[in-house]
Amino acid sequence: MNQRADEVRHVAIVGGGTAGWMAAAALGRAFSRPGGLAVAITLIESEAIGTVGVGEATIPPIRQFVKSLGLAEDDFIRSTAATAKLGIAFKDWNGPGSDYFHGFGDYGPTVAGQAWRQYLFRLKAEGRIDGLDAWSVPTTMARAAKFAPPAEDPRSVLSHFSYAYQFDAGLFARRLRTLAEGLGVMRREGRIEGVDRDGESGLVRALKMQNGSEVAADLFIDCSGFRGLLIEQTMRAGYEDWTRWLPCDRAVALPCAATCPPEPITTATARDAGWQWRIPLQHRVGNGYVYSSHHVDDQVALDDLLGQIEAPPLAEPNRLRFVTGRRREAWKGNVVALGLASGFVEPLESTSINLIQTGIGRLLELFPDKTFDPALIREYNRRSAQEFERIRDFIVLHYHLARREGAMWDQCRSTPPPDTLAAKIDLFRARGEVGLLEDESFRDDSWTAVFTGLGVWPRRVTPLVEIEPLDAVERQARQFAQLIARAVAALPDHSIHFTGYSR
Ligand code: FAD
Repeated sequence: MNQRADEVRHVAIVGGGTAGWMAAAALGRAFSRPGGLAVAITLIESEAIGTVGVGEATIPPIRQFVKSLGLAEDDFIRSTAATAKLGIAFKDWNGPGSDYFHGFGDYGPTVAGQAWRQYLFRLKAEGRIDGLDAWSVPTTMARAAKFAPPAEDPRSVLSHFSYAYQFDAGLFARRLRTLAEGLGVMRREGRIEGVDRDGESGLVRALKMQNGSEVAADLFIDCSGFRGLLIEQTMRAGYEDWTRWLPCDRAVALPCAATCPPEPITTATARDAGWQWRIPLQHRVGNGYVYSSHHVDDQVALDDLLGQIEAPPLAEPNRLRFVTGRRREAWKGNVVALGLASGFVEPLESTSINLIQTGIGRLLELFPDKTFDPALIREYNRRSAQEFERIRDFIVLHYHLARREGAMWDQCRSTPPPDTLAAKIDLFRARGEVGLLEDESFRDDSWTAVFTGLGVWPRRVTPLVEIEPLDAVERQARQFAQLIARAVAALPDHSIHFTGYSR
């Protein structure tokens, strides 16, 4: 390959958590050439520091990431102890005993130019149906613990959904490491103790290791976790704090043994001062309580979690502190932050790993040369900020509209949401439309699942849908729901589908 003088020749990735190894595998793949890597890639990690050790639920684009690495799905599932995830069950968000489901799919096809959910809104307004679940294939599948991959024929009702994975974060990083090292990525173990910068440009020149050696590179990818070793401690990129909308700032995680076959569902149960996750894997269940330290103290939160989990814990509690928000500049100079170093929106909709994936995609698209053109950096930061903000709004929606009682919940309800979210809430109330913006991670049907799950229905539907005779719409809706129920009933159980992969 011909190289120009100003091309990036060496990339250093700081950190070997999920973000570091995802970046190493994806860049390794992108720069892989028959004779080896076109750009040298070194990943530095410190076993003594360790990783955050959580992050096990994902959203559907993860499948594209796995595929893009050339990993076969059965290899991936076996090596990460993964299960399928069809969506999230939200329990107790509208008070004890309430529940709703955000399934990864739509509420039916487009009929006469209108989304089918608009017809369903009309039936709901007329008192003909109670909710939308019967028209969501993934919700119906999840509730029956059934699973098969989506049908390829777009005419099949079973093509109207997607799925993600629930996996062991440690095994995921290990699998990616094997892959990246196989592609020629070099790994260095050791603690980075200092950073050498160019006096004139301010660019990072080299990392100073504890053993006195140095790692020089042209481009540095900061995957060092919450500490933001390069992006914050060195480059001072700044941080935008979103705690006023999303008050949870701590979590405690505890895995336990499974007491039943794994379901294709992540569960998020609202609690007095936050919410609790349950993520079933092939070999264990991940549990955690995400909470606001202003509303519960650490010991009470841990005791609360211990009292809720279905079996004795398999490990010591993993306690985590965080500030929900985003780095003001995810890319500054020759440092690009990925993963927790770039920001963190609490994990209610399992979005962090997806943000790593999209960050890597954007970096490859805007990959710089050694001049680090500010236009590329501006564009990267603009899109990164938008994507974070759209996710923030989606998560704030859950807290702001929840009808649960309690001090933290009252505070979330009474805090005015970001303007971009307030506009979406108004539009949905008026017409059942969402008004998606650029760089949204979740589409209309996902927003619809949460709005309606939290009891918000449109005041009116589009007049085009009201033209149809109501009885005919209801008849069609019932037929459609029956079709889904029958198709789902014929599918194998999720656990049977995954038995072939069980360890
Ligand atoms: P880390 O895992 O913290 O890795 C940092 C790396 O940097 C480590 O290898 C460390 O050794 C290295 N390092 C740091 N400093 C130095 C140094 N001085 N020298 C050498 N090496 C150094 N995401 C999801 O998508 N789904 C979820 O369900 C989900 N749940 C979460 C629950 C909680 C409570 C939290 C806090 C996060 C959750 N996340 C989730 C986010 C997810 O865990 C992270 O996005 C993901 O693990 C990436 O972390 P990371 O690689 O950025 O950082």
